[in-house]
Amino acid sequence: MIKERYSRFLPIDWVKRNFENLKDKKVLLIGAGALGSNIIDILIRGGIKNITVIDRDFVECSDLLTSPIYKEKDAQENIPKVYALKRNLEKIDKELNIETYFENFSSDFVKKFNFNNFNLIIDAVDNLETRFLINEVSFKGKIPWVHGACVSERGEVAFFKPWEGRCYRCLFPEIPKKGRLETCETHGINPVIAKIVASIQSDLIFKYLLNKKEYKGKIIYIDFSDNYSIKKFEIKRRENCALCVKEKFEFLDKKEEKLITFCSEKQVMLKLENFDMDEIEKKWRKEGVFSGNEYFISLRKENMEMRLFRDGKLFIKAEGINQKRVKSLISRYIGE
Ligand SMILES: [Zn+2]
Repeated sequence: MIKERYSRFLPIDWVKRNFENLKDKKVLLIGAGALGSNIIDILIRGGIKNITVIDRDFVECSDLLTSPIYKEKDAQENIPKVYALKRNLEKIDKELNIETYFENFSSDFVKKFNFNNFNLIIDAVDNLETRFLINEVSFKGKIPWVHGACVSERGEVAFFKPWEGRCYRCLFPEIPKKGRLETCETHGINPVIAKIVASIQSDLIFKYLLNKKEYKGKIIYIDFSDNYSIKKFEIKRRENCALCVKEKFEFLDKKEEKLITFCSEKQVMLKLENFDMDEIEKKWRKEGVFSGNEYFISLRKENMEMRLFRDGKLFIKAEGINQKRVKSLISRYIGE
């Protein structure tokens, strides 16, 4: 079975040479959206068995455009991406050792998480701040990472060993002001670009894990908006780089915001402490449209949705949601 399963991959000489070792490699995937779900699909079909996935979002109808993993049912149930990922991937390979965390990859999370034994970190996130954090985690733990990003019809990919210099912060020294960056929400995404970026990332991952090549010091830019252009550029070390020169861990040292905002800016997340789920459920049943499943309870009312998980994660979805509105919604629907 095993031999037959990979019989079209093994004729490639560098794959064959070290393929036996691949089953012992362990990768950490951060983000299970357009990039993450395509990457994991390629990696597990190519023989990677041990994957840990961290993601904080739910499957929505719009994910069906880019993802080969999520099904209509997942979107209808609107369950966390990592749960849908796990149940669907195990149908592709039952020997898969997949561990999932429905969490925000933040400095607080990082402090409690054990990074030992990971051979590689994969960036499939949708924001710069998390990438800066990945860059620092990678530097500190000496775990290489593969960066990928895409929006509209453009994308980029790079492989980093930041402790050797030429890190991600040499490329982007600071986070641009809010609203200056294009997002999939404002500029859309061509599903082809998501697949191409994910494919190049996956190729770098296989080549690194199978000892073929470390593709360091270069960044690959893909632009399909006009021509089919794929270009590579040398990354130069920034003389005063905050991380690989000055060794400042600004993002690791940062305290997590109480209120976590999402790329779409229509959703926020916070963590409740000392709450009574049954009491809240009783309240919500009287307030509006109530629903619940094995993961969460939810309340819909006046273009707003609240969703509460057993561990205290509370998601609020509403147009133009802000701190003030969050406060008033909590005091009204949860209590002090
Ligand atoms: Zn640097």
